Amino acid sequence: MIEITKTNIEKAINKARIAKPFVKVIEFRRYSVTNKTTGANYEVRFTKINNRKFAQCDCKSGQQGKFLCYHIGASIGVHIVLAEQMTATA
Ligand SMILES: [Zn+2]
Repeated sequence: MIEITKTNIEKAINKARIAKPFVKVIEFRRYSVTNKTTGANYEVRFTKINNRKFAQCDCKSGQQGKFLCYHIGASIGVHIVLAEQMTATA
């Protein structure tokens, strides 16, 4: 798991803008991300611990845990929208 910071998520989002993977919601905080070119599919999860946000991905760079991969960058946009909807209906 990697902690999400403003800096590392910005980089991941920028990478996702170039890669443009397909994001599918499995459930709240769990997303399936598919590379449209290679068909490679990975699962991204978001966790909140003591108000700190963490993300994990089962791709190679995600498992090394050094930086946020673009799968996380692609999912966070969907995740933020879902999270906002949930607080709006709560
Ligand atoms: Zn990944």
